[in-house]
Amino acid sequence: MPSSITRNLITGGAGFLGSHLCDRLMEDGEEVICLDNYFTGRKANILKWIGHPNFEIIRHDVTDPIKLEVDRIWHLACPASPVHYQFNPVKTAKTSFLGTYNMLGLARRVGARLLLASTSEVYGDPEVHPQPESYLGCVNPIGIRSCYDEGKRIAESLCFDYQRMHGLEVRIIRIFNTYGPRMLPDDGRVVSNFIVQALKGEPLTLYGDGIQSRSFCFVDDLIEGMIRLMNGSYSGPINIGNPEEFTIRQLGEKVRLLVNPSLPWINLPLPDDDPRQRQPDISLATRELGWSPSVTLDQGLLPTISWFRDLLGRNLA
Ligand code: NAD
Ligand code: UDP
Repeated sequence: MPSSITRNLITGGAGFLGSHLCDRLMEDGEEVICLDNYFTGRKANILKWIGHPNFEIIRHDVTDPIKLEVDRIWHLACPASPVHYQFNPVKTAKTSFLGTYNMLGLARRVGARLLLASTSEVYGDPEVHPQPESYLGCVNPIGIRSCYDEGKRIAESLCFDYQRMHGLEVRIIRIFNTYGPRMLPDDGRVVSNFIVQALKGEPLTLYGDGIQSRSFCFVDDLIEGMIRLMNGSYSGPINIGNPEEFTIRQLGEKVRLLVNPSLPWINLPLPDDDPRQRQPDISLATRELGWSPSVTLDQGLLPTISWFRDLLGRNLA
């Protein structure tokens, strides 16, 4: 007999954001199929749901097609950290294009609604600040970040073509830098790098002069925005991020203050194409979804630091 419970497929469900989404949907009593190839995902992130009757795991790579019966597809599968997505840039481009193409094909076959996890990287190194969704971006199509940036741009484009051609219900979220428990300690992103370095008593690695900026969103706020977008009638693209903007040096100062104020800095070269500034304009999210973030960087760093402290203490890093 068909179940009345919503059946969710989360691609990339064992990753940082995907596993928090698994938690939310499972806590809401829904069914979750977590699909992952474990490139950057970890079974430990979803361990607590293994054996639950509403929860299934599938080891699969989204670059290959798959047949499943589901109502909603949350398409998050793609490495997000520059270190990971640059490890095999051709694979990253394939994951973005073929992965999204395969998931759209699945959504069309079973009439599911699909949400694509896109990114603020579609704005590249922005000349407009803060960035509204109407800004078309400034992306280098041949640089070291382009496998990811252009990959997400073609993924967005595919979603809208499926919507126009086949009437598919799509939702596109443009995620700005998000942090929190379950980031990988070695994934190279700035929040995890600074916290892990501080906890180990190592110098903080500052790339460039540190005056480049980012706006950091706590994971719980991000997941709330993602769920509102999926449940609502607005397709997007829609920015979800915390508009509180900080230079990278200011972020490092906060981590030093919270962990060890005497830590030194070490200056390293700025990677190619590193965006100079980034801040979401969230007017659309506020208007369409009634969403705005509730956790400040100072508040969100505390549970994140505790989580890494526990991880390092258990020697699992
Ligand atoms: P993550 O690396 O922790 O998670 C990605 C997950 O996808 C991992 O579990 C990984 O194993 C899986 N995966 C990668 N390639 C796959 C493939 N070919 N087939 C199946 N599974 C695959 O990253 P995250 O931070 O959780 O990001 C999740 C999504 O959100 C990504 O699509 C990313 O582009 C997007 N996003 C994240 C941020 C952020 O700040 N965290 C910002 C912008 C966009
Ligand atoms: N960064 C840094 N030290 C680090 C890691 C990153 O100074 O150890 C800088 C990086 O050059 C960038 C910013 O922090 O300007 C954010 O980097 P991250 O990789 O977290 O995110 P993204 O650049 O993809 O927004």
